[in-house]
Amino acid sequence: MVEEEVTEEQLKEFGKTRYPKFVDNLELIRACYEREKGITPTQKLYIKKKISEIKEGEFVSIEGLVARKERESKYVGCKICRKKRKDLTAPCINCGGTEFTEFIWQNFLIGDKTAVVIAEILLPKISIAPVEGKVYEFKGKVSMYKNNYQLLVDVVVEPKVTSDLKRAVNEAMDLFDVYDGVVEKQTFQEWFARQNFNVAYEEVIGYLNIQEKENKIMLVKKEGEEKK
Ligand SMILES: [Zn+2]
Repeated sequence: MVEEEVTEEQLKEFGKTRYPKFVDNLELIRACYEREKGITPTQKLYIKKKISEIKEGEFVSIEGLVARKERESKYVGCKICRKKRKDLTAPCINCGGTEFTEFIWQNFLIGDKTAVVIAEILLPKISIAPVEGKVYEFKGKVSMYKNNYQLLVDVVVEPKVTSDLKRAVNEAMDLFDVYDGVVEKQTFQEWFARQNFNVAYEEVIGYLNIQEKENKIMLVKKEGEEKK
């Protein structure tokens, strides 16, 4: 599947130039844009948006911090079409497939600076299982469930590790070295504030493999992991 991304501004610009009369209908403009770029309807063009701006039916790309896992449920489904299988001895009633596997629905509460939303993720369709406390790019379709928006996620993209983040993580690991792997939370936060890193505290914490206990933060070193 080809995945493309476009900002709302880019779409509006395209609409203004080509179809000024219809520029307010972003879904229509998107369809025209897709046609011109040779993107077929089975491929997807995700619009980068803030969560407070999403609308039902849109395909959007949002950057969100995973606050917590809300729910998880499992089912056995067809390996090809993912439809729930009741009778495992008969072929899939939807596509005739004979192989089946376990699928896991995971719901996460995610948010950006503007709002929160529930992201629904189906594993193993989505290859990356999001981790609480980390920031990802979520691409998917906005749907409505019990009067709230939900994002049915197609793709989860790991955050890009910027050089700023790398530097902050390395320096944080040096700090943990000084304290033999356990730092008072307050000491760590004050140290972090003094550094003026160009990255958010949550991002650095999300990247480090840590455990928090009472008022202490412990660095958990993975086997064979070296500083990069
Ligand atoms: Zn099937």
